Amino acid sequence: SPDLTGYEPGYDIPALLGWPVQQVHTPALLIDLDALERNLATMRAACADMGVSLRAHGKMHRSADLARLQMAVGGAVGLCCQKVSEAEAFVRAGLRDVLISNELRDPAKLDRLARLPLLGARVAVCVDDAAAIAPLAEACARHGTQIDVLIEIDCGAGRCGIAPDAVVPLAQIIVSAGLNLTGVQAYHGKMQHIRDFAARQAEAARAESLTRHAVGLLRDAGFAIATVTGGGSGSFGFEGTSGLWTELQCGSYAVMDADYAAVRDAEGQPLSARFPPALQVLTQVMSLPRPGHAVCDAGLKSLSGESGLPLAEGLTCLGLSDEHSEFADPDHRLKVGDRMRLIPGHCAPTINLHDWLVGLRGDRVECLWPVTARGRSF
Ligand code: PLP
Repeated sequence: SPDLTGYEPGYDIPALLGWPVQQVHTPALLIDLDALERNLATMRAACADMGVSLRAHGKMHRSADLARLQMAVGGAVGLCCQKVSEAEAFVRAGLRDVLISNELRDPAKLDRLARLPLLGARVAVCVDDAAAIAPLAEACARHGTQIDVLIEIDCGAGRCGIAPDAVVPLAQIIVSAGLNLTGVQAYHGKMQHIRDFAARQAEAARAESLTRHAVGLLRDAGFAIATVTGGGSGSFGFEGTSGLWTELQCGSYAVMDADYAAVRDAEGQPLSARFPPALQVLTQVMSLPRPGHAVCDAGLKSLSGESGLPLAEGLTCLGLSDEHSEFADPDHRLKVGDRMRLIPGHCAPTINLHDWLVGLRGDRVECLWPVTARGRSF
């Protein structure tokens, strides 16, 4: 935790170190440190077994403290970021190896990117358009820096990335511009959340064959493709055992969420059986306006709602509005002031709503981690 002298609980921060969870100001974002550490160890062991590196996705948590833990004990070789300002926040906090697993085109962003190595970081970025190469090379020349470049291919998600057949001309342009082409990014975001294992496996097989084709074309044309990076918490077992991907980009595995809890593994078990949810929004009942209906103080400003309503043990969330969540309480169990822990629908946008992560060991506050790159979506 940073030096918290002068911070006022309930205004600047949700809690003080050592407080019992019952005292934490609500709504607050809790992280169960035992579950987090188990998840980091599970992913570390899985990557070691499969013989691939882990480049954990920092966009999920935007926390330099959590990123340091992923590097120190979670086996991560570096971080992924989606945005240049997000990467900058991590680099300024001392993280030294970042891949922007995304495209940057705005010359102002490319300029910031090209300055990042001056802070002592190894930096890489994805490209999917020949027109991006000259501005990137110019920005690097202006600052006397080197940025590694990966070609992003569309391996089935239909978002960013070029068609696998188009990789060789783009590689030639990258190399001719004096940039360092280190590999390929192949990430299929939509596949991660396919509930059914067999359907996800089939999509992963399609992604693998497209990626294998692209990497083959590049290698046959004489390009040294050292890195094939991609994969997320829903698919990493497929990429990891493919013999093709060298690096996985999992993010959500560390804390999970309600959406991932609905994704099934080969045995029909939820992914949360292997990676238990470590992230919860602490809320309290603030009103019982009529029998059987409870209103709590965590709404859309504390929980993202686009991937579904939060899970609450034994209770059904009926809906979220800006500052309220409503629950059915048919057995009239709840009283005003009762506290509940909600598992948010989607971890990454939920964390970005908070300034602090409250790290709990059992029921005591062990640490407070600032959400270092909160709001850094430039
Ligand atoms: N890689 C990229 C490019 C992503 O956009 C994401 C998440 O959206 C991830 C990896 C991590 O995925 P997950 O949080 O599902 O592990």
